[in-house]
Amino acid sequence: MAILVVEDSEDISLLLNRFLEKMGYKNVMLAGSAEEAIDIIGLSKKGGTVNRDIELILMDIGLPGLDGVGACQKIKSDQWFKDIPIIMLTDDTSAVSLENVFKAGAIDYITKPVKVIELRARIGLALSLKQEMDRRKACEIELEALTRQLKEANRILTNLSYIDGLTGVANRRYFDDYSDQEWKKAFREHSFISVIIVDIDFFKQFNDMEGHPAGDECLRRVAGALSDALRRPGDFIARYGGEEFVSILPNTTLDGAAIIGETMRTNVCDLNIRFAQSKKTTVSIGIAGAIPDKSKTIQWLISGADRALYTAKKSGKNQVKVF
Ligand code: GH3
Ligand code: MG
Ligand code: MG
Ligand code: MG
Repeated sequence: MAILVVEDSEDISLLLNRFLEKMGYKNVMLAGSAEEAIDIIGLSKKGGTVNRDIELILMDIGLPGLDGVGACQKIKSDQWFKDIPIIMLTDDTSAVSLENVFKAGAIDYITKPVKVIELRARIGLALSLKQEMDRRKACEIELEALTRQLKEANRILTNLSYIDGLTGVANRRYFDDYSDQEWKKAFREHSFISVIIVDIDFFKQFNDMEGHPAGDECLRRVAGALSDALRRPGDFIARYGGEEFVSILPNTTLDGAAIIGETMRTNVCDLNIRFAQSKKTTVSIGIAGAIPDKSKTIQWLISGADRALYTAKKSGKNQVKVF
């Protein structure tokens, strides 16, 4: 930590230096003019780095060239030095003069001739004020960082609570929120909305024959194959529960949904996941769609898709049925 003394009178400057050294301040820099001070601080060159050792400035008001008030203003306009305390040295304690001192950004003033006891007290006060400000600034920065971390943690938690841990697609909870929103949107816009329900065929047998871990892996791969069938940003798939998946397709007619459903079915076939020696994993799919009106709900639409799925199962599985 350094103290910068800006004083054109060499006698006073040396006296101050002696006082300060006696008080225990080892690093005292002396400048004979505002220009020299600005040089020492590092403000004379644009884009240069400022001297961050300086923690306090004692500045004479009456200086040749740029005076103390002007120098104070210039120094205070720097981002770093705006928080560095400047104490003015003055022999003019008229109201006008002191008003200028404080307007320029000085924190305090000392009248000449300087008395050691006053110098010590005012420097001590200015430095402890500076320390307190630094402490608060550090707290603020820490608080900001913590707030950022908290926001990020919340974002991750929100995402996690919407993701199915096994397959990585959205979960039932997300589906419930999202499907409701999309239904209301379709209602407002009088647009067609479709639902696809997918159920893996003979999955109990798969688990019984291949074991639960293989069943889990199968679920993951099927989820991927189903996701691959979706093309538009508004389309999405969720794990509805167990070995069932559900997809919402906004702005999609039954014909369009049937094409997506068929793509899903063939995507799963193409995975060629075998079980029970010769069987291949397939899915059955039920589809329903409508333009929402007051007499219908999203639950109605979902149960329509569920009934179509039931028909697909009844008709021999591995197929797509539209309600
Ligand atoms: P269907 O062809 O008529 O759909 O018959 P299914 O055997 O697929 O249907 P069922 O409802 O009888 O059995 C579903 C099976 O899905 C039973 C259960 O062990 C299995 N299952 C549900 N959730 C999971 C899971 O998270 N991991 C694994 N490995 N299996 C699961
Ligand atoms: Mg002077
Ligand atoms: Mg099922
Ligand atoms: Mg099944």
